[in-house]
Amino acid sequence: TGFEDCGLREIVLQNVKKSNYRKPTPVQKNAMPIIMAGRDLMACAQTGSGKTAAFLLPIINVLLSDPRNLIISDCIEPQAVIVSPTRELTLQIYHEARKFAHSSFVKVLVAYGGTSVSYQASQIARGCHILVATAGRLNDFVNRGRVNFSSVRFFVLDEADRMLDMGFLPAIEQMLDHPTMVPSTERQTLMFSATFPEDIQTLAGRYLNNYLFLVV
Ligand code: AMP
Repeated sequence: TGFEDCGLREIVLQNVKKSNYRKPTPVQKNAMPIIMAGRDLMACAQTGSGKTAAFLLPIINVLLSDPRNLIISDCIEPQAVIVSPTRELTLQIYHEARKFAHSSFVKVLVAYGGTSVSYQASQIARGCHILVATAGRLNDFVNRGRVNFSSVRFFVLDEADRMLDMGFLPAIEQMLDHPTMVPSTERQTLMFSATFPEDIQTLAGRYLNNYLFLVV
């Protein structure tokens, strides 16, 4: 099976081809149909497995297919929020998202520490479809009341075990318990983690809805 068999729209397929991805990696082959089917997912996958594209491609595909986005393409609140532990990883996800959303209306924004909070906050206020952020910087925005989760359809925790190791559990809980956050039954929550220790199992059990578990 190739990317052509994954049910992706032509524009997304073109962008995949431009990236020189010849065939899907195992995590892509297995996770993409689950995400496209609307299910929550807890996936154990290492860095280098191709997990980034495994969640980005279905997310971009769904956002492109939503008739509401075809009518009003200048959205305000993020519809997909992707949280990762480090600036490096966040930038990698951002660049990959830009690549796959190229030539489409899908607007991707990035936020991480070490840069101006007020500049990034003004960017977020102007609207985006996909927000890629470090847990630390997104937590800043939450505390300042600068981010609204009421349009979230996808919430992704990437390298969840590293985020918990770095002490971001309270930050993550604050996002998922945020008063504006849509209920777990009305969003897709996707977790990627290299390991599956007890605290990760607990997190998945609390915030994912009837999720599928994938080990690659
Ligand atoms: P990731 O595990 O998402 O960090 O991806 C690891 C690296 O593999 C990145 O440089 C990706 O650009 C690349 N990659 C991901 N999927 C594929 C694929 N299907 N074919 C070739 N390269 C890929």
